[in-house]
Order: sequence, then structure tokens, then C-alpha cells
Amino acid sequence: LARAITLIESGRPDDGPIARDLLGRLLPRSGRAFRLGITGVPGVGKSTLIEHLGLLLCERGHKLAVLAVDPSSHVSGGSVLGDKTRMEELARHPNSFIRPSPAAGALGGVARKSRETLLLCEAAGYDVVFVETVGVGQSEVTVHSMVDCFLVLMLAGAGDELQGIKKGILELADILAVTKADGDNALRAETARRELANALHYVADRGQIAPVTTVSVRRAETVAALWAAVETFRDEAQSSGRLAARRREQSERWFEQLLAEEAGRLFFANPVVAGSLPELREAVSAMKMTHAEAILELRRRIGAEKNEIG
Ligand code: GDP
Repeated sequence: LARAITLIESGRPDDGPIARDLLGRLLPRSGRAFRLGITGVPGVGKSTLIEHLGLLLCERGHKLAVLAVDPSSHVSGGSVLGDKTRMEELARHPNSFIRPSPAAGALGGVARKSRETLLLCEAAGYDVVFVETVGVGQSEVTVHSMVDCFLVLMLAGAGDELQGIKKGILELADILAVTKADGDNALRAETARRELANALHYVADRGQIAPVTTVSVRRAETVAALWAAVETFRDEAQSSGRLAARRREQSERWFEQLLAEEAGRLFFANPVVAGSLPELREAVSAMKMTHAEAILELRRRIGAEKNEIG
């Protein structure tokens, strides 16, 4: 599995056809896992919770793969998320497979590799896949678009803005959990849970109101209860047909995205476009042409060449 993922992540041109062939053959065997996305600001307790939740699942006989989506990992010169040293015990468990984020790059590239890696894990027989991401930037939206259930972890009293409540994270969440609900923090966590539950009632366009829980890795029963909430969500989504609809929609959107990327590539590879752009770009910068005029001119030139793209 690790070698297959390395092949998928490889940027070498001659690996491309082999990777495509492999994915094509494995596709019929994929799609059977339950996919859980996990997000939250750095320090909220993602990796600690994944370790505890993961061990619980492995003990119950599940096979768990943990992937990470972290487009920013070039900042630290390496992958932070999914780092094996953060989940030592889980990483040693024979039922688990932990894979750090693909090498940093544009989110689109990281997302594509992560999606394909997810399919590989499913084909390899992992029946639960966690996809972890940092709660900053666009990566939550990306992960949301590839999972069956999206778990958002929150800190008590860390400030709403900091945690992205204003960024629409509440609209993405299927389940929320306030972490570190132990010791001195237990009461504050419960207060935060209540406030979040109230705030969720005001989130527009929600068919369902996401449940909010508290969790502490120091209290095993809360970790088990969180997993029970995830299972309830999954069972309900499965029996109502919502899960199937969500996957179909995700697949369609993913196809549209790849199509749009390819269309862009073809367009810019067109010799008329490539030949005209420097001049038109300069004309726009020098304010000799408006943006709209430059684009119209480009369309005229493409049309004049009777090019298929025009
Ligand atoms: P991540 O950056 O979101 O992956 O957060 P970590 O899992 O690395 O956790 C950040 C810190 O919070 C670590 O020092 C953990 O030991 C601590 N932590 C995580 N979960 C809990 C918890 O349930 N209770 C307490 N008291 N501390 C926790």
C-alpha cells in the first residue's frame, strides 16, 4: 500500500500511466470504507484524539487508515500532520496505517493525491479512513468534499474568530466536539458546548442540526461516546440515502474540477493563446486596453485561426 501511494504521489511522467492503470483496476474494490474528516486549529488535540479513537477502533477489529491533507507543510519543511511520532502507539498497531500529507504543493494537487490515496486504502481493506487537516485556510473545504462525515474539534474559550466559526466551519460540520473536557477545563468545555449548540440553531441552510459533544482523552468513556455519535450519524446517513447522495455529488464535483483544470491546461497550451498572451498582458498593464477588450481580442484571434477551442 505504501509503495502504491508513493507511485500515486510521484510527479515523474513515466509513473503517470502506471498510477492511472493501478487506480483504474482498484476502483471496483474501493468505496467500502467509512470516511471521517477531522479538523481543528493546531493544538486542539487532533492527533491525540486520533490516537485514542484509532486504538479503540483497532481493538474493536476495524482496520483504520489515517491520512492527512496539509497543503502548508512546506513551511516546516516536512509533513506535520499524520506524523508517525505523534501517534506512536496507534502506528504500531497491526490494524492501522498512517500516512502523512503528500509533499506540499497547490491544494488542488494535494487534494487529488489524497483522494486517490483514500481509494487505495479502501481497496487494501481498510474499513475506516480518517482524513485529518489543520483548521486553517481552504483545506477543510477540500477534506469536507471527500468524506462521509466531518468532525470539527473546538477548544473551549479560544475565541470564535480564531477557530473559524465566522469562516463557515459550522456549516461544514456534521459533528462538533469540544476537546480537553477534563480537570479545570471540564466546566468551561461544557459551557462552550452549550454555546456552540445554540449557535448551530442559527446556521442557515442546514437540513439537520449537528450534534455537539465534549471529549477528553483522559476519560475513555467520552471517546467511546464520540465514536457512538459518529456511528449514529453514519447509520442514519446510510439508511436515509443521504450518504449515497453525498458521495455521488462529491464524485460529480470532483470530475467537474478535474475537467476545469484540464480545460485550462488545453487552453493555455494553444499556440495562439500562448503567442498572444505576453502582448495582451502588457497592453492591459500599460492601460492601453481594458481587460474585457484584451479577452475579446484573444477570442477574435482564436476564431481567426479557426481553432477548435475557439
Ligand atoms: P493537534 O495539534 O490538534 O494535533 O493537537 P495535539 O493532539 O498535539 O494536542 C495538543 C496538546 O493538547 C498536547 O499537549 C496534548 O497532550 C493536549 N491534549 C490533547 N487532548 C487532550 C485532552 O483530552 N485533555 C488534556 N488535558 N489535554 C489534551
